[in-house]
Amino acid sequence: MPEKYRNLHIKLTPQRLAILSYLNGNRTHPSAEDIYKAVQKQYPTMSFATVYNTLEALKEKGNIRELKLDSAKKRYDPDNTPHHHLICVKCNEIVDIHWAFELSLPDKTVQGFELIGNHIEFYGICRKCKK
Ligand SMILES: [Zn+2]
Ligand SMILES: [Zn+2]
Repeated sequence: MPEKYRNLHIKLTPQRLAILSYLNGNRTHPSAEDIYKAVQKQYPTMSFATVYNTLEALKEKGNIRELKLDSAKKRYDPDNTPHHHLICVKCNEIVDIHWAFELSLPDKTVQGFELIGNHIEFYGICRKCKK
């Protein structure tokens, strides 16, 4: 079992482990449907509800991030380090941007918020769609 899942405090059934290993290092920002299709090859009896519930549990533990960048479906990001995203407006491919932007907000714009982070979305047309 990968070290990072040791202290998740969710019951790790073989099916859940299959979901975790599919997500581990995955950079495609898959949807629940994508994950379901992939793990079903290995576990034909796996239900969509199991996949979805596991994703919700992982999200609550802060192990994965839910992305609402794709209007058609929720996508999941196993990389929970701070990063930004580049999104293809044609095929909804989502690419990670690991770059520490120097960002600050002038005091008068913060309106009493305690700032805890930021996320920048860049839009474009990916290499595949440009052809
Ligand atoms: Zn594209
Ligand atoms: Zn990402």
